[in-house]
Amino acid sequence: MSVSLDVSGAAAAGGILAIDVGAVVANWQSLAARIAPARSAAVVKADAYGLGAAPLARPLYDAGCRDFFVVALSEAEALRPLLPSDATLYVLNGLLPGTVAAYGDGVLPVLNSLAQCRTWAGAKRGQPSVIQVDTGMSRLGLDAAEQQALASDPGLFAATGARLIMSHLACADEPVKPASGEQLAAFHAARARLPGLAGSLAASSGIFLGPDYHFDLCRPGASLYGIETSPLAEGIRPVVDLRVRVLQLREIEASTSVGYGYSFRASRTTRLATLAAGYADGWWRRFSGGAGAAYFGDTRLPSVGRVSMDSFSVDVSALPAGTLAEGDLLELIGPHQSADEVARAAGTIGYEVLTSLGRRYYRVYR
Ligand SMILES: *Cc1c(COP(=O)(O)O)cnc(C)c1O
Repeated sequence: MSVSLDVSGAAAAGGILAIDVGAVVANWQSLAARIAPARSAAVVKADAYGLGAAPLARPLYDAGCRDFFVVALSEAEALRPLLPSDATLYVLNGLLPGTVAAYGDGVLPVLNSLAQCRTWAGAKRGQPSVIQVDTGMSRLGLDAAEQQALASDPGLFAATGARLIMSHLACADEPVKPASGEQLAAFHAARARLPGLAGSLAASSGIFLGPDYHFDLCRPGASLYGIETSPLAEGIRPVVDLRVRVLQLREIEASTSVGYGYSFRASRTTRLATLAAGYADGWWRRFSGGAGAAYFGDTRLPSVGRVSMDSFSVDVSALPAGTLAEGDLLELIGPHQSADEVARAAGTIGYEVLTSLGRRYYRVYR
């Protein structure tokens, strides 16, 4: 992916974050085709994993997506006016106290407990909702006893207006573990207790476990944004390209130190570039000294010293002197280094790298 620079505002930005909207849409289409006749939602929580829910929701709608999952009611309220009325927004956090009146207009709560079912049924009798059941993760949703209690009160069950029953897999990214099969069995049991509802179990990695996991609706998030979610995943295109500027170039003598704490000391004459990203931009301190390299063309430029709040240094001695100039852009995420590779080098996952990307980058949607 190449970055277009003739964009107003880009010149003044320390970094340029390019988001390939076409790749997000293509990833959704590829997943939707894989799971048909089941339908694919789009999980756009956390501002579409940091990439921008507002600019991505409408292109996904135009590609055919009608179901959008967010976490907070505020996220649903922000997206509601951007989507036509036949799009449904689902709020995963559930029915927090004092929020019931705010629902409606195609914004549905995910009811996570029997108490939430009662609140909804009492206030909104029969209006559409989603019931989440816990099938093993012990995070959110009605446990088996609560499912039984709801099943034994048909009036209450009907008054929840539930359209969909959903659960979430804990280990779908590790297909060798038996956990997903056990959760699948628990989900079938929950559906037998609470019959007549469409079902939804799989997120990105669950989709690649096969059709037994697809039910009526799948909920991919990370796959839309180009993250590797499973060893079985295929057909997912990269979405993110992050370039940051060279703020300053310098040459230091052997024995000169670099950055906070003088944690790096040059063993030879070294040419350095100070780059315009730091932990306030989601380029974590954990990337200090090695994990967070930059690329100029095919040349890897290792990070040296500690990452500061607003900058970090890379060793550019591998490039002929005069190759770089102040203001040049170096690749942090792109064809040479995916968000997943950055994450692995720092002991985390691509999800965390994307959702941490800072607000100071100039954003380009292509
Ligand atoms: C975040 C989330 C998803 C999406 O998961 P991905 O692994 O990003 O596809 C789906 N369902 C629930 C309940 C979630 O919390």
